[in-house]
Amino acid sequence: MFWPVIPKSPASWKVPPNLLDYEPTVATFSWDAVRGAFQGLPENRGFNIAHEAVDRHADGPLSDRVAIRWLGAEGATLSIRYGELKTRTNRFANVLKGLGIGKADTVAVLLGRIPELYIAALGTLKNTSVFCPLFSAFGPEPVYQRLSRGDAKILLTTERAYRQKVAPLMARLPRLQSVLLVDAREHASDRLLSLPRLMAEAADAFVIPPTDPEDIAVLHFTSGTTGMPKGALHVHGAALTHYLTGQYVMDFHPDDVFWCTADPGWVTGTSYGIIAPLLHGITNVVDEADFDAVRWCRILQAERVTVWYTAPTAIRRFMRMGIEPARQYDLSRLRLVHSVGEPLNPEAVVWGLQALGMPIHDNWWQTETGGIMIANFPAMDIRPGSMGQPLPGIEAAIVERADGGVRVIEKPNVQGDLALRPGWPSMFRGYLHDDARYQKCFVDGWYLTGDLARRDADGYFWFVGRADDIIKTSGHMVGPFEVESTLMAHPAVAEAGVIGKPDPLIGEMVKAFVSLKPDFAPSDALRLELIGFARQRLGSAVAPKEIAFTPDLPKNKAGKIMRRLLKARELGLPEEDLSTLEDSG
Ligand code: ATP
Ligand code: MG
Repeated sequence: MFWPVIPKSPASWKVPPNLLDYEPTVATFSWDAVRGAFQGLPENRGFNIAHEAVDRHADGPLSDRVAIRWLGAEGATLSIRYGELKTRTNRFANVLKGLGIGKADTVAVLLGRIPELYIAALGTLKNTSVFCPLFSAFGPEPVYQRLSRGDAKILLTTERAYRQKVAPLMARLPRLQSVLLVDAREHASDRLLSLPRLMAEAADAFVIPPTDPEDIAVLHFTSGTTGMPKGALHVHGAALTHYLTGQYVMDFHPDDVFWCTADPGWVTGTSYGIIAPLLHGITNVVDEADFDAVRWCRILQAERVTVWYTAPTAIRRFMRMGIEPARQYDLSRLRLVHSVGEPLNPEAVVWGLQALGMPIHDNWWQTETGGIMIANFPAMDIRPGSMGQPLPGIEAAIVERADGGVRVIEKPNVQGDLALRPGWPSMFRGYLHDDARYQKCFVDGWYLTGDLARRDADGYFWFVGRADDIIKTSGHMVGPFEVESTLMAHPAVAEAGVIGKPDPLIGEMVKAFVSLKPDFAPSDALRLELIGFARQRLGSAVAPKEIAFTPDLPKNKAGKIMRRLLKARELGLPEEDLSTLEDSG
């Protein structure tokens, strides 16, 4: 299907983007120059994310600027200024120190998006301990898995979550030294402590110990879309990528109000929901509540959000509900909308034009890359359905496996493995307890992402699918994304998930699971119409041969369609690890 290019021109900019000339910037780029944006710890003690994100602003002219603008689910609000954030994170670092927690010890957090989560994250980094966020809706088993695999020494949680999920695990977690309860007034035992008590007793001042940029800062588990979640280790030096992408992709300007809707349980919620905006000294909006289209529109308006970072699953929900925020709300301050986490269908990019008054900028990265790697930059024309071009400083290529190694595919528009040249600052430094798996990601001087893509003649990258999801049908390799995007272009379709179903004649048959928009009902006539619609646009080899209607597609807690589950269910196979499934406890 042909989607016209969305051109960018100075006439459409509310402020001139930071990255104006892509090619010359790429040609002269050096990470050393990015280092110049940072202060470093005093007396050459090294480089610590929390110093750059909090203390250097607190000690300078931004001390009174709101760092975190918190919106409680029940209507309460709180603004934490940089100066205050410094004191509170110092206190938390002192709490850890007082408990004998130090460098490289893991501090896990099982909390909703409440201020304590953000203070703990930054305080943990100050203490040079390792911050490990767990998504608050995880049930006991995924919590146990992550705490034990991550060797957590401290866990922060609420009384309720402790009682429901953690208490039964305590005997199986001998290395977990203490649980800190954010809402307990008194200590219950040596292992069960009141965080407010500890914070009240802690000193306001804290000297960040020497921090090597290579010290581990964050342990992040992947979303578990394709299998058992992997623990990715990230270092303090990763902040260079967070800063640069804040500058060039998010296009942060000093007065910006930024809102990243991702939960810190997923990497987007830490890299961009905490670190990147604070590195830039801007105001970071945090909403405690779950998705609610009307509430979200109100937040964009009331908080005067200028840059918004969200995900395809949320955008598709707006589309499905027929909500067009720009018509009913004052979004005059909004300047840029970004999306990540799953492929963004061209339909959704273009929907942004009418519903938000601007296109949606897709970008690509993974837990392993630590930060955005490929993006639609504000000043660059958008080709709807494309992930954009590599960040300056990032070398990306399409490669194929050959002779036990890999070979770069130079020819444009050929599908292959998406690979990155290792060495960018936020690259993961290991998979937790699985060095063999880590080593396997690197072949012939490339990091293989596990995603398939193609690059067009002008350097734009196009997502094809995850290597595990690729369908081999009649000798063709079909990426689910293209088929799903085509189905979504039909007015009846809200969402689609496409899998390969084993077939004795053609290898695999393309099968689509489709959920419909509210005004449409499943019928054989609609099924035939959709098959015809797809055939006309994709050809009969690629179009789905079977379509099943389903009210909802299975998604994980990060909101991603789980094709592996659609497939397992279709084939009656075991569903394997479901710890991150949206509906699991
Ligand atoms: P797991 O590795 O456990 O299966 P996951 O890969 O979903 O889970 P994340 O690291 O959160 O865990 O997600 C990264 C993946 O999400 C990418 O490898 C890619 O498959 C997909 N993704 C992210 N952004 C985009 C995008 N803009 N377009 C297409 N796919 C994307
Ligand atoms: Mg992955």
